[in-house]
Amino acid sequence: MKKKEINSARIPVYRDSGFELYNAGLTADTFKRETENERDPGNYIYSRYRNPTVVSAEEEIMKIEECRWALLTQSGMSAIDTAVSVFQKGKATGPWLFFSEIYGGSISFVESVLKQRRGIDIQYFTPDDGSYNLIELEKVIASLKPRFVYIESISNPMLVVADVPAIVSIAGKYDCRVIIDNTFATPLLYKPLTDGVDMVIHSVTKYLSGHGNITAGVICGNDDALMRSAIEYRKFTGHMISPDDAYRLQSQIQTFKLRFSRQCDNASKLATFLNNHPAIERVWFPGLDTHETHSVAKKMFGDRGYGAMITFDLKGREKAEKREKRDRFIAGVSDTIRLIPTLGDPHTILMPVEAVWGAKYPEPGMIRLSVGFEDYETLENTIYGVLK
Ligand code: PLP
Repeated sequence: MKKKEINSARIPVYRDSGFELYNAGLTADTFKRETENERDPGNYIYSRYRNPTVVSAEEEIMKIEECRWALLTQSGMSAIDTAVSVFQKGKATGPWLFFSEIYGGSISFVESVLKQRRGIDIQYFTPDDGSYNLIELEKVIASLKPRFVYIESISNPMLVVADVPAIVSIAGKYDCRVIIDNTFATPLLYKPLTDGVDMVIHSVTKYLSGHGNITAGVICGNDDALMRSAIEYRKFTGHMISPDDAYRLQSQIQTFKLRFSRQCDNASKLATFLNNHPAIERVWFPGLDTHETHSVAKKMFGDRGYGAMITFDLKGREKAEKREKRDRFIAGVSDTIRLIPTLGDPHTILMPVEAVWGAKYPEPGMIRLSVGFEDYETLENTIYGVLK
């Protein structure tokens, strides 16, 4: 069959692993251009390098994040690996500074891959009393002189909001770059690049794809040198997303703003409901003025919402009673709110904090909710019925 131009309004799934280059002249030219690592190479060579369906999905993310480039990877973890590895330069690599309140999988990656295998000098910065002390942070950056600082805009599971504009201005004084995992806040609440952050990471598996059916990640930025280095690293390590996932993401992302703003509304209402319930000891939600970082969240997110994650602790006299109440809660809501170890799904799902985080958060009554975009009434009625 001869190749035809089809009048489709969408970029199709190009599943080709290699693309036709016709003659030696075009081959030499295309390979030479590939070494320049431009965002859109124009002519394609091989899908592990670059793929037109992937580039098209990346352009959808660029519109949402308002950035000059976005690079999709096959998971959030490979996006993290790519972003930090851009700064790995043999003996001149470290030190790197990571905030301690980051995703457990990121901590494991830091410990097992960056420290043990690659031998990189890594230090952690820990919050005191539930928020980050910026005076202390400045002292650490001034003495350590890290190449970059790595933060989550909203941490997991205590939902500590980092004062990103203030951190960028401190880091800037000491020639320290800033990398942010913005998975929980999403570009709807906050666009870190507009405040001068160097690279933004998302686990696309979560809100950007939003249906619990794609595993992917993305790195976004404005600096062309970082982009070229990240494209090269992604190519050599094979961290590329598949064209099928990129195609599905390209359509699912069209509803991202609608979905996430509804999730934030549901979460705000549910956090208030839980906060007023006599069976609950404490609720962590950045939209509540009892949260240690509420004022930072208000400053950064304005009236756009406070995210869709809530952590709460069930009342109980001692650990055994809390554990029993937690198990009763999980069983009681399980027809509607299921225990699924991810977040950002269409429906509300939960995780028992102690069972996942162990010694880091050993409170047996604590449950983390990822609030969905279902009807709010169904959600509140389900929880009300089990807590009463
Ligand atoms: N960043 C955050 C904040 C996460 O919660 C996760 C996963 O839960 C990741 C990164 C890793 O993403 P992925 O599972 O898509 O590799």
